[in-house]
Amino acid sequence: MNNLLNKIKSNNYTKNDLIEALSLNSDEAVSLFSLSDKIRKDYCGEKVQIRGLLEISNICARNCNYCGVRANNDLVQRYKMPIEEIYSIALDMDKKGVKTLVMQGGESKTYNPFDLADLIREIKSNTDMAVTLSLGEHSFETYKLWKEAGANRYLLRHETANKEHYKYLHPDGVLDTRLECLRNLKKLGYQTGVGCMVGSPGQKTEYLAEDLEFIRDFKPEMVGIGPYVMHEHTPFKGEPNGDVFLTLKMLALVRIITKTALMPATTALATIGNEGYKKGLSVGCDVIMINFTPQKYKILYEIYPGKKCISENTDTILSTIKDLIISCNRQVSIDQGHARNIIKNQK
Ligand code: SF4
Repeated sequence: MNNLLNKIKSNNYTKNDLIEALSLNSDEAVSLFSLSDKIRKDYCGEKVQIRGLLEISNICARNCNYCGVRANNDLVQRYKMPIEEIYSIALDMDKKGVKTLVMQGGESKTYNPFDLADLIREIKSNTDMAVTLSLGEHSFETYKLWKEAGANRYLLRHETANKEHYKYLHPDGVLDTRLECLRNLKKLGYQTGVGCMVGSPGQKTEYLAEDLEFIRDFKPEMVGIGPYVMHEHTPFKGEPNGDVFLTLKMLALVRIITKTALMPATTALATIGNEGYKKGLSVGCDVIMINFTPQKYKILYEIYPGKKCISENTDTILSTIKDLIISCNRQVSIDQGHARNIIKNQK
């Protein structure tokens, strides 16, 4: 066991070693989790970053087979938040001490990219917030426009590093295009986030090992990993949810491999895992995202069902999450929480 973990820690491992680590039983995984927690302490410290999530639109042109807001789901009532409303919520978040705004939405041409660029510029000029975008695949020029407007980070989960599996999950997507987008984001200087689901239909343990190898080679600044949660109104209806224990092993391995990546304890983990946020923090996570989307929209942004929303009141959510962080003997960060390798030159 120690030999296996030492190999992974010193970046001297094979794909089979990763598969073996992902297959550890609960007794064996104690050493894995204690190593990932130690690496988190040594490389990242005790701070936990709070990010403010705003689900700006559920309009999407894509048909990912696992997603509740996929284009072909006619049962979804679609919305697009007005730009002015997004701006006003951003100001409110800033006042409440939340120093990162994450604007997430379906992949579509719903917003004019120039309007979004103006919005980013306004937010950057009038708040002390970092701006993260999570709006899917776009052209190099569009990513450049938003970067030049001041966006700091972009989340684009790679979803799976295995081509066939990617096609199985995304009938209208191509892994190479996804990876090209990720390379473009890095080239443009975004702090770039990748990630995948654990337990998605068709996934094999060796695919997760391939995800870990991809993460090692791509060197993302952020990695988001959560369990697959089944949605009734998708082609994957009836498939079992992802396994929480396997998700925790995956998170621990990402921490050991990347050392410094920003890693959220995801809402999906909190949704199906008892005390999911705490478990995530205990194996190496250092970010929690709080949903600031107004209730009238939040209920329509159902990528998966039963999403963990502690309260409708954002003040209550904030104080609950801060208490949770402190109860884990960690500190609530009050800064923008930029990626550790490129903190310099970020506004
Ligand atoms: S996962 Fe994202 S891109 Fe895929 S259908 Fe859902 S919102 Fe659209």
